[in-house]
Amino acid sequence: HRSKEIMAARDIERTLDRLACQILEQITDHESIALVGIQRRGADLACRLCGLLSERTRRKIPCGELDINLYRDDWTSSTATPNINATRIDFSVEDKTIILIDDVLFTGRTIRCALEAILDFGRPEAVKLLVLVDRGHRELPIQADFVGKSVPTERDQQINVFLQERDGKDQVVLS
Ligand code: 5GP
Ligand code: MG
Repeated sequence: HRSKEIMAARDIERTLDRLACQILEQITDHESIALVGIQRRGADLACRLCGLLSERTRRKIPCGELDINLYRDDWTSSTATPNINATRIDFSVEDKTIILIDDVLFTGRTIRCALEAILDFGRPEAVKLLVLVDRGHRELPIQADFVGKSVPTERDQQINVFLQERDGKDQVVLS
């Protein structure tokens, strides 16, 4: 199996910095910003962005997480069943601008499911989507508002996201 590095550690660091800047530029009411990460690596990324945003705004940005599993037979299968395992959102979503965060955006089915879960909590002002990697192949009309990197992929390829806190290194690889 051939694999290719898409992002090195320094690229991930710079990208998260840039995404934090874009968030603060686009969402001018900083008090309304709240983050929700999708387990597992989306939640890790949400944590990091929470640190960057809290530092820059000098306020504690609320951060929650959703645990959604998408059961698919294989990576190429478009028949996937989303399953919500757990939610941890211990702040009011009312009138918040929620930034939903995931590591990889593919068909969009996970995000559709995450939106339903968030809206069960109340009525946010808006929900935005941030992903580290957009690998294409959408099957639903879902697009990210903040994209770390767009990586055209074949359906049967896979993006491997490694994060320091979980994998001991920061790296994105296409295989
Ligand atoms: P979707 O629901 O958009 O089809 O797939 C997105 C979800 O599946 C994300 O939570 C993401 O973690 C995972 N996913 C889909 N494709 C890939 C991939 O190529 N690599 C990784 N690491 N995760 C993927
Ligand atoms: Mg995932």
